[in-house]
Amino acid sequence: MSEDIQWNDQGHPLSTQFDDIYFSTENGLDETRYVFLDSNHLNERFKRLSPNTTFTIAETGFGTGLNFLATCQLWQQYWPQDSSSQQAHLEFISVEKYPLEKSVIQRALQLWPELSEFTERLLDVYPQTITGFHRLSITDHITLTLIIDDACVGFQQLLSAPDHMPFSALTKRQWSGVDAWFLDGFAPAKNPDMWSDKLFQLMAALSQKKATVATFTAAGIVRRGLITAGFSVEKKSGYGSKREMLTGVFCSSDSTSTVTKSTIQQTSVKKQSQSYQYRVDSWANIHDYTPTPTSKTIAVIGGGIAGCHTAYSLAKKGYKVTIFEKGNQLAVGASGNTQGVLYTKLSTSQEPQGDFNLYSLLHAQQFYRRYWQAHQHQPSAGSACGVMQLSMGDKQQSAHQAIAQRFCNEHVNENHANDEQGINPNSIAYMLSKEEASQLANTSLNYPALFFPSAGWINPAQLCEWLIQHNNIEVIYNTSIETLAFSDAQWCLYSQEPQQHSQTQQYLFDNVVIANAIDALRFSQTQHLPIKTVRGQVTHYPATTQSMQLRTVICGKGYIAPAASATTNKSSPKNDKVSHCLGASFNLSDNSTELNPNDHLSNLTHAQAQTPDIIDHHILEKSHYQQLSGRVGFRCVTPDYLPIVGGAPIADETLKQFHALKHDAKKSIAYAGYYYPNLYINLGHGSRGLAYSPLCSEILANLISGSPPPIPQALLQRLNPSRFLIRDLIRS
Ligand code: SAM
Repeated sequence: MSEDIQWNDQGHPLSTQFDDIYFSTENGLDETRYVFLDSNHLNERFKRLSPNTTFTIAETGFGTGLNFLATCQLWQQYWPQDSSSQQAHLEFISVEKYPLEKSVIQRALQLWPELSEFTERLLDVYPQTITGFHRLSITDHITLTLIIDDACVGFQQLLSAPDHMPFSALTKRQWSGVDAWFLDGFAPAKNPDMWSDKLFQLMAALSQKKATVATFTAAGIVRRGLITAGFSVEKKSGYGSKREMLTGVFCSSDSTSTVTKSTIQQTSVKKQSQSYQYRVDSWANIHDYTPTPTSKTIAVIGGGIAGCHTAYSLAKKGYKVTIFEKGNQLAVGASGNTQGVLYTKLSTSQEPQGDFNLYSLLHAQQFYRRYWQAHQHQPSAGSACGVMQLSMGDKQQSAHQAIAQRFCNEHVNENHANDEQGINPNSIAYMLSKEEASQLANTSLNYPALFFPSAGWINPAQLCEWLIQHNNIEVIYNTSIETLAFSDAQWCLYSQEPQQHSQTQQYLFDNVVIANAIDALRFSQTQHLPIKTVRGQVTHYPATTQSMQLRTVICGKGYIAPAASATTNKSSPKNDKVSHCLGASFNLSDNSTELNPNDHLSNLTHAQAQTPDIIDHHILEKSHYQQLSGRVGFRCVTPDYLPIVGGAPIADETLKQFHALKHDAKKSIAYAGYYYPNLYINLGHGSRGLAYSPLCSEILANLISGSPPPIPQALLQRLNPSRFLIRDLIRS
């Protein structure tokens, strides 16, 4: 889908396909400021914005990113990045059908040295141009959601209810909506497909009351389309030699009056989209959805990876968050191994599990880069050393090759393709022969491998400590929340403190997020969730001179990470030995918390088959492996292996309300789902806590705060906690 570019004498990019310019040949940056920034009154609106609120801009056609970068610069004048927790947030959504390669953007943006601070940040996170949602964090308070797709397909995916349902605008969106529109895109005469009625109707469905719009064109088709969709529109003088342009304000208070079944046809979206079937159901929507003001308090139950990430995402939005942890330190449950691997499975086609795995991996890699940078002098904290998935057998090898074909970036500038170790950081994943893999891993491997250059390993306890450093986060340790009750618009959390035997404490909060894995089953509100645990035992293999050579994480039947000091937390300095974490076993019906020597043996046997030079074969003798230390954890898994993220459904009401699905699975039911007020869930991450948690936490923080969803609504529905109740109704 990438665009063909020509360069004119001034160094401006031109689209060969559309025979049109990306920005004015007079002065592109001035034009952007005049047409999009000034005409949307961003200057005054940014100035007036209260702390901790979100301002959302949506754009058609990202192009070189010039509009976005000029907006970042303006934002920075009013909301400079500082340590204060009183910030506002800029959410910029741009939908781009023909994305430019990074090298083209880099060349074009050289024209604007005054934007270089943000240009560098953008280039740093600019993704491989794969269809779908790319959530890019530019600063802690500026997020770019770049949707690579057709404008209508992209915007449709931000809506959360079937078109024909008579829901209010907010229920249809489940987020606050767009404040300002930048209608860019090539001239209507050259690109008529984009300027469709469907686009204008989608804008109406996505707009907040009084949302503004500005566009460089004054074409009649655009003016009429906007007016029909509910915008009041004015002409004003255009930039430079352009005679006129349009500005407007969204006047309708409830977009459902303008959005009708005939105007936004799902079928036509389906045809255009390369995505899996677009489908959103009413049950996934929270009835009477309203964003939560940042003055409200939030409790997060569980201090593992999911809980700490959730707290961090919410704290960044300006919420005061309290984590309740039953242990005396963070990451003691399933999150507690000394080395966790950022691992996921990608798919060769677009389907929900594969898409979610991709989105979460990309987001996690971007997120952890900051963690790895912050800990670069602490080798025990983790390493962005890359992860290899070995291709063990022909079938797996062809599957890996197909994945590499989809995710290996062919458009890398020759000079910057590989770093000195032969790593190509611009690709999500690519294939290595057995020899190449052995060279990169610095040990002999028996198989070729699919290599993830931007992944690595992390010490979860140190990660959690790092996440909770935010000023808005407090942790209450040694406190096991046993019961939740809602009254007078607040949640009361009842705890039992182990030290103070049976003494019960109560805590009041406006909102609660349940992130305590399998322990969620103790709450009456979440006991219906079909989650279970799978035991996993890791082995700590003491490092040898030979094993210290290992440079990347190797995953096959099990995983082995490069050697690191095993210090996990303050309370176990005796563990301070250099070792490799390897494992983990997968024991379905085993609840034993004791180390099992047989699991050590199978972990070591797998590791030896994969990395024969790393594991000393003597260790496989009983007398040796039985002495090894290790750790037993319990992964919390779901029946479909996707995490559970979203509002907590009221099970009885959901079953009653959607009972008709029992008789007709396809029946369209015009009600939103039943959810407890201000009660949310983030759990069921299985062995992918590191990969899933950053994105799941952003999803929740955005849902709670009213910010746009970071992934398509149809995919959010796949994570929705109600899905099992609905599935059971349909199956029965
Ligand atoms: N805003 C851009 C900037 O700041 O550089 C310039 C945008 S350029 C004039 C128009 C952009 O619209 C191109 O990048 C083009 O690929 C994109 N575009 C064209 N048709 C589109 C469609 N149907 N959906 C989404 N994007 C489209």
